[in-house]
Formats: sequence, structure tokens, C-alpha cells
Amino acid sequence: MKLNRRGFLKFSGVATTAALVGTPGKTQASELQKDHSKEFGCLVDTTLCVGCRKCEEACNERHHLPQPKISFEEMTVLENERRMDETSYTVVNKYYPENIGSLTWRTHPVFVKFQCMHCNDPSCVSACIVGALTKELDGSVIYDKEKCIGCRYCMVACPFQVPAYEYAEPLTPRVMKCTLCHEYLKQGELPACAQVCPREAIVFGKKAELLELARWKMKRYPGKYVDHIYGEHEVGGTSWIYLASEPFKTIGFPVLDSSAPPRLTEAIQHGLFQYFAAPIGLFVALGGVMKFSSFLQHDKTVRKNQSSGGKQ
Ligand code: SF4
Ligand code: SF4
Ligand code: SF4
Repeated sequence: MKLNRRGFLKFSGVATTAALVGTPGKTQASELQKDHSKEFGCLVDTTLCVGCRKCEEACNERHHLPQPKISFEEMTVLENERRMDETSYTVVNKYYPENIGSLTWRTHPVFVKFQCMHCNDPSCVSACIVGALTKELDGSVIYDKEKCIGCRYCMVACPFQVPAYEYAEPLTPRVMKCTLCHEYLKQGELPACAQVCPREAIVFGKKAELLELARWKMKRYPGKYVDHIYGEHEVGGTSWIYLASEPFKTIGFPVLDSSAPPRLTEAIQHGLFQYFAAPIGLFVALGGVMKFSSFLQHDKTVRKNQSSGGKQ
């Protein structure tokens, strides 16, 4: 199994990528395809990431996002856990899992890049009542600002708390999130982050091949990784999958069930609209349903686990 420069599974072929994503289709959550193996995604090997933030910078440039107040060269920002927002589709965080050992923990942090996970069965798509978010056949979940009515149900529904809203934009606020560089894949280009990563910590390819690569790495380097490919099963599977040397719950990942939440959100939506419930009722109901996966709860879990130093 070979990778070419940069971060692309060679046997997938860039031309093939362009051909496959050149005529994308859209699917609503209720009619999502069952087989996701041919969709595209990325494998992030967090053991290779050095926290250089080049992926953040490349994403910012490609998508013409606002320049951050603090330069991408500044590494002290990594000392605080960050979330994606309306100006950044991706962030890199630094974690100090306690089980590394008290003498070495400060010299062996774990860096993790976060962005939209492009879920197989996306809650955001399911929650959007006007079809402004769609799951494309290439695996990406993309947003159409022309359809969006600004209800922000997608923000409540997302189990990873990804979509951000341009609150400061008075006239045409948008929901902002990673696109998997969908519009560039169609031209045969890689996601900007995968293209730029100097460590090839981000590998783009077909989902089935990424899973194969992840399993091959785990077998090839016994003891290097925890026995868990994050995103293989979480919320029904995601297009971004991760390998790590530490339990995922200690490095910023929420502990999530393998079933996709959309079915639940859809049921509530349909129920509420059937009885003409006000949109605010839907918002409150969705908030209640999705609360189990909120990062607030997740943070508590992380703190609890870090204080006990337990392994996943
Ligand atoms: S560019 Fe690669 S090595 Fe640098 S922070 Fe991003 S994922 Fe990590
Ligand atoms: S991570 Fe959130 S925003 Fe991204 S596809 Fe999944 S539900 Fe939608
Ligand atoms: S896939 Fe594209 S939009 Fe998503 S984080 Fe990478 S560069 Fe940004």
C-alpha cells in the first residue's frame, strides 16, 4: 500500500477521484445509501501529527476565510482547547493524556486535527427542514446558503458540535463548516489539509481503502495504536476516521453510540410538524435529543477519565 505526495492513497488515483466526484448526487438523510465504502474521506494518524497548524492555514487560504487575529505561526494557541467556529473549518488541539506518565507527559503531547466528520448518516442533514445541507455521493456533507433559513437546527443536531453560524454578519449570515473540499475534489484536487500536511498525517482516499490502511498500520505496528478506529462505527460511521496511541476519550473525542441519531431527530421533526408545533418547540426537542452527545458532557467525561487515568 503506497502513498504519493501528499497524503493520497495511490491506488485511488486523482483522475479517478475527479471522475467519481465529477457528477455528484445529493441524498437526504432518509434516503442515504447503505454502502459507504466507495465514498471518499480522510484517515488522520494522530501519532504522526506534530501540531504545526499548516492544515489550518491551508484550509483558511483555500476557502478565503478571515485571517485570524493570531498568526498560524503562533504555537501558544495550542495550549487552550479550541473549537471550529465561523472563521475556521478546522483546528488542531494539543492534549496531554495522563497515562503517558508524569515524567514525560509534557514532552509527549498528542496533537489532534478536528473538522466536520462528514457522517455517513448526518444529523445536520436530517435536522435541516429546507434541505440546505446534503450528503453527496462522494461522501462530503455540504451546505447551500441559498436554501438556508438560519434556523440553526443543524447546530443543535450535530453530535460533534461542528456547524458554526456567522452571528456577526447582519444581512446574509451563513452556517460554516468543512466541505471536505468538495468543490476541489471535482477538479481532481486533494483536500487542502491533506495536500499540505508535511507529515502525511492526513490521508485522503476511498473509505474502504482508508479503513484497510488503518487496520494495516495497527497490525504492522503492534502496541502503537489503541485498538479503535474512531469514526468506523461512531454515529453510524464517518468519512473522517482516526488512529491514536491514546484512548480517544482522553484526546478530545466524544464517546458516541454506533447508531446514527438522525432517525430520532427525523421522527421528532415529523411528529412536531404533523401537529403544527412551533419551530421553537422543534429546537427545544432537538436540543434535548442531542444533549447526550454534547461536548459539555464530553468534557465532563474527559475530566473524569483524566482524573482516574483510565484506559478506554
Ligand atoms: S498539517 Fe499535519 S502535522 Fe501539521 S498540524 Fe495539521 S495534521 Fe498535524
Ligand atoms: S459532523 Fe456534524 S456537521 Fe459534520 S456531517 Fe456530521 S452531523 Fe453534519
Ligand atoms: S477538507 Fe478542506 S475544508 Fe475540510 S478541513 Fe481540510 S482543507 Fe478545510
